[in-house]
Amino acid sequence: MDSSVHLDNVVMKFGDFTAIQQSDLKIESGEFFSFLGPSGCGKTTILNMISGFLDPTEGAVKIGGEDMRGVPANKRPTSMIFQNLALFPLMTVAENIEFGLEVRGVNKRDRKKASDRLLELVALPDSADKQVSALSGGQKQRIAIARALAVEPRVLLLDEPLSALDLKLRQHMRTELKEIQRKTGITFIYITHDQGEALTMSDRVAVMSAGQIQQVADPITLYREPVTDFVASFVGENNAFKGSIQDINGSEIVVDCGPLGKLVGKGVGALTKGQEATLFIRPEHISLIPVVEGNSFDVTIKEINFEGAYLTLNAETTYGHSLAVQIGSDQYSSNMTPGAHISLSYHNKDAVV
Ligand code: ADP
Ligand code: MG
Repeated sequence: MDSSVHLDNVVMKFGDFTAIQQSDLKIESGEFFSFLGPSGCGKTTILNMISGFLDPTEGAVKIGGEDMRGVPANKRPTSMIFQNLALFPLMTVAENIEFGLEVRGVNKRDRKKASDRLLELVALPDSADKQVSALSGGQKQRIAIARALAVEPRVLLLDEPLSALDLKLRQHMRTELKEIQRKTGITFIYITHDQGEALTMSDRVAVMSAGQIQQVADPITLYREPVTDFVASFVGENNAFKGSIQDINGSEIVVDCGPLGKLVGKGVGALTKGQEATLFIRPEHISLIPVVEGNSFDVTIKEINFEGAYLTLNAETTYGHSLAVQIGSDQYSSNMTPGAHISLSYHNKDAVV
């Protein structure tokens, strides 16, 4: 079955305010797709257009190739899990899961069959008769998933569903959600401001800023080849050096960074000589060991934090640029103290312009 979702040149305006700039995007059948961006960038607005709670001002949402204009939310093949879960606290687990089926007139026996199967899927087989209010946060989360799946949606919409859980549980639920998506094979559209969630679970991610989709790519490509400064800074940590492009040799870009010298990195997107550009280097790509094909900085250590497997350093170049560095604990030596002068290097191939 075609469970693709196409945002066909949609625009969403609230009065004079454009919440979603014109966007064209196709989410494939069975994909785990995330929208990632800071609070207020328009993520919930996108989900609401897909679910039918909002009608786009321009363009159309198509599900399975079918134009959803004029199709009300309750007639769409979608199901939503809200940030606050919105379970019915005074009902049992089974009553919650079966609610949507009961509304649709499904008989008791088939409802029970469905809820038993779903409780198995979310790994809570013996809890059908428990009161929802007696469950833990993680268990409630699973019941919300089971309830959303009960109506057999082709597309499951998840609006920051893990944000209320503590860190450990949140990380555990990532694996579970991914597993449930794999087992059911339905399209998951997940929204989050947490890049860790988006990167670990998704087949592809759309990074958003201020109502605009900045880049759509698989997690590794997003991390390694961000196409805008926003994506480079929002997805993972990055050191940014501003300058102007002095030379282009194939994919190798030479950026004149003033007193820091000429830094070399790999170009992403269309670049031209003379253009202002930013060269990005990830903290984990900076090393204490000199490299051949690369650049070095003389820095002063400002702060050093031992994190177990690795160390993070805050350092400052002679010209006042601050630099975040992450190195393996095995590279630690006792002369690395605040105020110490050291030299740091990076490989040209690891920098992105
Ligand atoms: P996110 O989910 O990424 O935090 P939202 O989609 O909720 O962001 O909101 C995007 C922007 O649209 C925000 O600036 C928000 O204030 C605005 N907005 C959302 N819904 C409405 C509405 N019904 N009327 C007016 N403005 C809205
Ligand atoms: Mg939101």
